Amino acid sequence: MYFIKLIHSFIYVVELTCDYCGDSYSVRPSKAERSRFCSKKCCYDWRGENNSGSDNPNHKPKKSVECKYCGQIYKVQPHRAETTKYCSKDCQLSDYNKNNEGENHPMYKGKITLECEY
Ligand SMILES: [Zn+2]
Ligand SMILES: [Zn+2]
Repeated sequence: MYFIKLIHSFIYVVELTCDYCGDSYSVRPSKAERSRFCSKKCCYDWRGENNSGSDNPNHKPKKSVECKYCGQIYKVQPHRAETTKYCSKDCQLSDYNKNNEGENHPMYKGKITLECEY
């Protein structure tokens, strides 16, 4: 049984970026392909935004934030205003690449469009 114990104590994690709030988070490699959100909350919020129109009375007013990369003003949910830095994933990637020249992050290649699973 020692061998199995050894495998289980050796856990890899993959760093991903949340599709909703943009925070980086870690998941097990087995979940990496399907994972899109750092938390259940982001998953639900993302669903809420994509399923309901902006005329929804329950929709909180969005806050304007300036993109750290291109300087464009964009709007986010109030709870995201503190953590968001970029207007789009492209800007996030561009800035990331700028700061990590020569380093190719494998997880940033291609877009994973699968079931909403955090
Ligand atoms: Zn998130
Ligand atoms: Zn931008």
